[in-house]
Amino acid sequence: MNVPDVPTQDTPNVDEAEVAKFTAQAEEWWDPTGPLATLHAINPLRLNWIDERAGLRGKRVLDVGCGAGLLTEAMALRGAQVTGIDAGEEQIEIARTHAGETGVDVDYHATTAEAFAEQHAGAFDVVVCMEMLEHVPDPDAVVAALTRLAAPGGQLFLSTINRTPRAFAEAIVGAEYLLRLLPAGTHEYARFIRPSELAGSLRTHGFDVCAMTGLTYSPLTRQYRLVPSTAVNYMLLAQRGADRAPESP
Ligand code: SAH
Repeated sequence: MNVPDVPTQDTPNVDEAEVAKFTAQAEEWWDPTGPLATLHAINPLRLNWIDERAGLRGKRVLDVGCGAGLLTEAMALRGAQVTGIDAGEEQIEIARTHAGETGVDVDYHATTAEAFAEQHAGAFDVVVCMEMLEHVPDPDAVVAALTRLAAPGGQLFLSTINRTPRAFAEAIVGAEYLLRLLPAGTHEYARFIRPSELAGSLRTHGFDVCAMTGLTYSPLTRQYRLVPSTAVNYMLLAQRGADRAPESP
């Protein structure tokens, strides 16, 4: 398939080959020991990190690149009113079926952040985009859409992988080839994003990074935990500069 690297007006900002990496595994999405085991393993950590900062109960939440809904359903179970979107039709199909089975109320749509932002600008208190930006041709365009989707006072929670030699060693060589935590070829080093680059992109759209944490996998305990170092996987919270420091009347 010939997928252009740089999106134009006629080609949406979606790398079909990247989306297909996750559709091929669609039936295995909800298997905690399957190819997406790492997403299952980090789910409680990121859910708590978000909930502690957002207070999910009662919030209007959008999960962008939600896959089959691992975090999406978990946020709904914390009492949020959640919408999940993903470019992969198959992922959304699996997500809908699963939510139907578990009885969790989530509104799912097969679409992109950019397209959704055209109809729903300013509609969400919390916009979440986890483990997706490193699969998109133009992450800055996604960040722009995420910032448009956030309501005044809204919060963005993003996670991706840093572009460092350590990330190459751990997230690609270690996780994909040595420990086989993820299918080989899941990630491309060149698409990893440095926190400074993400912060710069957010700043262009008026958002400042308010909090950031690293996540690391320990082969000894076979568990992920939050760590100060953002050298490999990291997650951040950003808010509009004006929302963080309101001028006194
Ligand atoms: N956010 C979920 C899933 C991460 S896997 C989680 O962390 O559990 C990455 C997901 O991003 C896949 O489901 C893939 O289909 C989706 N994706 C990739 N590019 C996308 C794009 N441009 N727009 C929307 N979704 C995209």
